[in-house]
Amino acid sequence: MIPRNQPRDQPEKNFTDPLQLLQYLELDTEQSPFSENAMESFRFKVPAAFAQKMQPGKADDPLLLQVFPAPEELNRHKDYQNDPLAEARFLSQPGLLQKYHGRALLLVTPSCAIHCRYCFRRHYPYEDKGHSQTQLENNIRLIEQDSSISEVILSGGDPLSLSDTRLEHLFEQLQAIKHLQRIRIHSRYPVVEPERVTTALLNTLKQSRLQVVMILHINHAHEIGVDNQHVFRQLQDHNILLFNQSVLLKGINDSPQALADLSERLIQNHIIPYYLHMLDKVHGSAHFEISEHTALGIYKQLRSQLPGYMLPRLVREIPDASAKMPL
Ligand code: SF4
Repeated sequence: MIPRNQPRDQPEKNFTDPLQLLQYLELDTEQSPFSENAMESFRFKVPAAFAQKMQPGKADDPLLLQVFPAPEELNRHKDYQNDPLAEARFLSQPGLLQKYHGRALLLVTPSCAIHCRYCFRRHYPYEDKGHSQTQLENNIRLIEQDSSISEVILSGGDPLSLSDTRLEHLFEQLQAIKHLQRIRIHSRYPVVEPERVTTALLNTLKQSRLQVVMILHINHAHEIGVDNQHVFRQLQDHNILLFNQSVLLKGINDSPQALADLSERLIQNHIIPYYLHMLDKVHGSAHFEISEHTALGIYKQLRSQLPGYMLPRLVREIPDASAKMPL
């Protein structure tokens, strides 16, 4: 096995076939069985930079488990749904979600760099619920007409899937709206495909009159390598505030030590650990679930290990609540 401090070469291409990823990791389907059927509803997609951080020969690698289409995804469980956060109810227009006071969330693309098997939008009907350019233009006009909105959240998919040119145009439109103060970007790109953070993108973010906040999504300390550290520093040097949110996932980060290591790694990189989410109960993700009782036990130990500023808030999202609910 290759020790973590001697990284392997990055594979040449991203992975869209689990067999090829297994081959790269020196694993076979007996050690890591997967389901073709599970991939029908949610494709397999793993960027090369993320695969490079997985440990060869380790079927329970915490990065591999996040992306691997396990046969358990096909089991149906009570309480699990296609739209666990009832987002369809909060769409004021296709592609525009208004759930919390002062904020509006724009779904700008259905695409992501990576497909995380626990994703609460894995069944989101992007085709009918909007991210087309016409709908986006319409939604920007609606934000312009509502002076109570001070923050626009770019989501998707992953908003950094848009090209640099489209993002630049979007920023120009948003910063022309006088009552906006902030743009928040939820993205996994700086973590899973750091080369996406181009000079053009950095300049768009830096030149905006709006404050830019980026919420990263890192679940395990092994996701952060030298390549990511470089990109985090570039983002910070361009005045972008970085926070992190994680999901508490069985077999991946469900121990006080794994979570403490993650917080240490985040703080070393000047990233604030912000939320630790309970799993949203989306169909296909039940094998990642941790009970509330177990989660509270883990969190209690984590709290005794970390200074307060390194402790993310343990929360659950409830469709009708006016904010995330602390546990
Ligand atoms: S929206 Fe985020 S969590 Fe969901 S698949 Fe894309 S990157 Fe992963």
